[in-house]
Amino acid sequence: MAERLATLVIGSGFGGSVVAHRLTAAGERVTLLERGPWRDTQPMRRRGLPDRRPLPAGAGFCHHLLYRLSGPAGLRLPASNSGLFDIHYDPAMSLICSSGVGGGSHVYSAMNTRPARSDYWDGHADGVDAASMEPHYDWMLGVMGARAPATGEGVPGFTGDDLRDHPQLTAELDQPPLGFDFDGARFRDNSYFGSPTGEKRTLDDLLLAPALEQGLDLRAHQEVRGIATTGETPYRYRVQVHDHERKRMHYLLAERVVLAAGTLNTLKLLFASRAAGELGALPGLGLGFSGNGDQVALWWCHDEADLSAGTPTHGRLALRGAGDEPYITRFGFNGIDRMPLPEPLRRKLRHQAILVCMGEDGAHGRLDWHRGRLRVAYDPARNPVLGQINKTLKAIGQGTNTSVRFLRRRPFTVHPLGGARLASTPEEGVVDACGRIFGHDGLHVADAAALPAAPGRPPSMTISAWAAHVSDHLLTTGETP
Ligand SMILES: Cc1cc2nc3c(=O)[nH]c(=O)nc-3n(C[C@H](O)[C@H](O)[C@H](O)COP(=O)(O)OP(=O)(O)OC[C@H]3O[C@@H](n4cnc5c(N)ncnc54)[C@H](O)[C@@H]3O)c2cc1C
Repeated sequence: MAERLATLVIGSGFGGSVVAHRLTAAGERVTLLERGPWRDTQPMRRRGLPDRRPLPAGAGFCHHLLYRLSGPAGLRLPASNSGLFDIHYDPAMSLICSSGVGGGSHVYSAMNTRPARSDYWDGHADGVDAASMEPHYDWMLGVMGARAPATGEGVPGFTGDDLRDHPQLTAELDQPPLGFDFDGARFRDNSYFGSPTGEKRTLDDLLLAPALEQGLDLRAHQEVRGIATTGETPYRYRVQVHDHERKRMHYLLAERVVLAAGTLNTLKLLFASRAAGELGALPGLGLGFSGNGDQVALWWCHDEADLSAGTPTHGRLALRGAGDEPYITRFGFNGIDRMPLPEPLRRKLRHQAILVCMGEDGAHGRLDWHRGRLRVAYDPARNPVLGQINKTLKAIGQGTNTSVRFLRRRPFTVHPLGGARLASTPEEGVVDACGRIFGHDGLHVADAAALPAAPGRPPSMTISAWAAHVSDHLLTTGETP
């Protein structure tokens, strides 16, 4: 007989961790399924969590790098269940996300910001607005202990120090608060490949391990493959799960399901379930997809300093006199010591930089389901911010007499969002103001897929604020099992 659960959360990134933490703290019975493993970092060792898997490093770098590489034409490369990255290749826009307990907090750059617009949450659906979301941002920024470095503090690579007297560039901008332990003072190896010593603060340590102590039932290596309605109460949903460790499929029954598998995988689950004849028509599914205006460039700047030291990002920069937009941040090759590279290349890369840009892209994209695979429709021409970003990157190269290289034709995003967006009607979106999927009591979306627009800034705090908002509804609307 299938196991019976109260609240089932799928995925342990920013959305899933927040919901699991807040519901457990309020005394709810919560089971969280995460497809990836616990990561072997110092904070998790200190907590004595069993069965931790390494972050990519040294000889095992490639083995632990990739969880999955998929694409619309059936592209699928062999990967590892303990791999860190999940990449969906699509000619229109590729999507990059991660796998493991704590989700994107292991691979992200720790920028913890509010959206570009203070009215971001206004006007999408009655019951959600900027004022009511504000306490959720405050709470999450407090959880992360986020702050921006100060000039003169001695944080290696900080643009506020490095560019103070630069003739063409300025860092006199609102610098992003970082979820980083500045007191740990280990300013190396906190990168896209994780933070083995834990200076980059991650959700396994901040929200999930504490919730375990309060009764959270967290099961790693469990990948949800489908969601069906039972037509019965109280166990309204039947969830198909693949156990990566035992290599077998099993089923769970749940009173309530919260989807938080990240945009790519929440959308795959919703499309697959709809294609299997479950969940009805969901006419708004796939609408409002956005890549948050992402553009990444290699900046061949030949800096004298070793730019691979410092925080995960060095902070923002802009052309002098060009204003606040687009949002451009500089990175060194932090984490390069763990990559299996020839020494001369490693030495060279220490002095180069990466520029990561974002902006409000209008969220005009659309995700679709074609022969059992996700397909992306995204027209850069409808998103002028991308042209503005490319122009600025070119101007930085010309102004500083350095080479700035970026891809114009094959966009990719590390900030995919929307597709199951918040809206007033099922024709415009997928979830209502409580995060509930239209027409499906007890089925909620609490991750980036539900965002109604591009924040134009790093989105993790906006996702967390949404998840906190959804949690409050789950606790107060009488939907509690
Ligand atoms: C390289 C990189 C740098 C970034 N830097 C920043 C930054 O500095 N600031 C910022 O705000 N954002 C940053 N981001 C983006 C940020 O990481 C994401 O926006 C955020 O993690 C999304 O949160 P989420 O809860 O929607 O999904 P995720 O954090 O991706 O969590 C989803 C979780 O669900 C699990 N999962 C997926 N499918 C299933 C399934 N079927 N069954 C069970 N579990 C499943 C996944 O393994 C994952 O753990 C960065 C992203 C990347 C890739």
